[in-house]
Amino acid sequence: MSRQERLKEPGFRESVDLMFNRAVALMDLTPGLEEKIRVCNATYTVRFGVRLRGGIQTFTGYRSVHSEHMEPVKGGIRYAPTVNHNEVEALAALMTYKCALVEAPFGGSKGGLCIDPRDYEEHELEQITRRFTYELAKRDLIHPSQNVPAPDMGTGEREMAWIADQYRRMNTTDISSNACVTGKPPHAGGIQGRVEATGRGVQYALQEFFRYPEDVAKANMEGKLDGKRIVVQGLGNVGYHAAKFLAAEDGALITGIIERDGALIDERGLDVEAVHSWIARHGGVSGYADAQYVKDSMSVLEHDCDILIPAAIEGVIHLGNAAHINANLIIEAANGPVTAGADDILREKGVVIIPDLYANAGGVTVSYFEWVKNLSHIRFGRMQRRQEESRHQLVVDELERLSRDSGIGWTLSPDFKDRYLRGAGELELVRSGLDDTMRTAYQAMRAVWHERDDVPDLRVAAYLVGIERVVASYRAKGL
Ligand code: GLU
Repeated sequence: MSRQERLKEPGFRESVDLMFNRAVALMDLTPGLEEKIRVCNATYTVRFGVRLRGGIQTFTGYRSVHSEHMEPVKGGIRYAPTVNHNEVEALAALMTYKCALVEAPFGGSKGGLCIDPRDYEEHELEQITRRFTYELAKRDLIHPSQNVPAPDMGTGEREMAWIADQYRRMNTTDISSNACVTGKPPHAGGIQGRVEATGRGVQYALQEFFRYPEDVAKANMEGKLDGKRIVVQGLGNVGYHAAKFLAAEDGALITGIIERDGALIDERGLDVEAVHSWIARHGGVSGYADAQYVKDSMSVLEHDCDILIPAAIEGVIHLGNAAHINANLIIEAANGPVTAGADDILREKGVVIIPDLYANAGGVTVSYFEWVKNLSHIRFGRMQRRQEESRHQLVVDELERLSRDSGIGWTLSPDFKDRYLRGAGELELVRSGLDDTMRTAYQAMRAVWHERDDVPDLRVAAYLVGIERVVASYRAKGL
């Protein structure tokens, strides 16, 4: 992007505000309420020292609370050297609208620590995370009923387990202490299916989109997901799971994978698993032999494809490259990957965008399930599973008896019996709840998109649905 173009480009926080403004312009809100919803309620900066490598290192972390119309507030904690005040505020605001859109009963929050986790050993990261947790928890910025963090870029199950343990040490008599953070490993109070959740949600979102031929036609495509060419930017947790499921279960072709050190292209479809394990072993895609390697990775965002999945960081599709995007559909697996300016250009070009606040809501949806599990102290399905199986067994036995007694001689195939008899465990229930959430939210969004002439795209529709729900809860409070 030229310097000129970069100057015209608003920052992430301004981009989110612009998108918010575009939606509220179509609503009938009093200016006071509009302003109240838009602003972040509070953003805390904590600076703390940790004794490391024979000296004291000072770290800067943030936790921003955007809206407390529902509590606890919810949102991930990101570890990246670029984390800053504006970024956490933008991300916290997105969490508010995201939770409202998928009916996760939370306000919006987000946290970040300015750190490159690759610079530290595991035991050092643990020390830093525990200290950061202490700083946040003593201000109730980590709390089961007030503020519940989760993983984001640069953090995962391991960090969440440290946070939960540190919180427990500080609150030894709190029976719900496990609910202070989500995204924990299953053996430490987590839930099955949380790691895959955001990528899974992207898959369910695309499946739902492709159930509506008129929506698919708006993106100048037809047919199903099967055979569609997909370029994924970022093969981290979200991009990897989305690409893997879309290729393995929906027959899509992952024709491009963009990483930090380069990109891979193969029109016949890349082997996602092989690329993923190559990256794990070599730290990047370069040297991977079974595909065309492109050094200028970001140029591959402009590669001809049906669906583009930006799944890494904000602002990758901007004023400088939006006009050159060659995809029919963009699904924002990352938060804020398309700037407000790029959004206008893409709409002009007829590119359909499935917006971040919907597309990546799978993570917080399954976080919600985990939080409920922690508060109820029981795994989903534990009471019903065998009972469900025995009722299914009754039906199977009766069908077989009828078939025998009537002389018809039908037999149920072993595969059918096996699948029908098996009661749902936690993972099946989590996936079912996630699928239902993604379908329901898409339907709410598309209804607004199709019914209102003044709603130009799914993003405005998503903001409208989300903000409308936040407004309803403010009204219920008498504001
Ligand atoms: N960090 C994720 C997000 O941006 C997950 C948040 C959560 O689970 O609370 O949506």
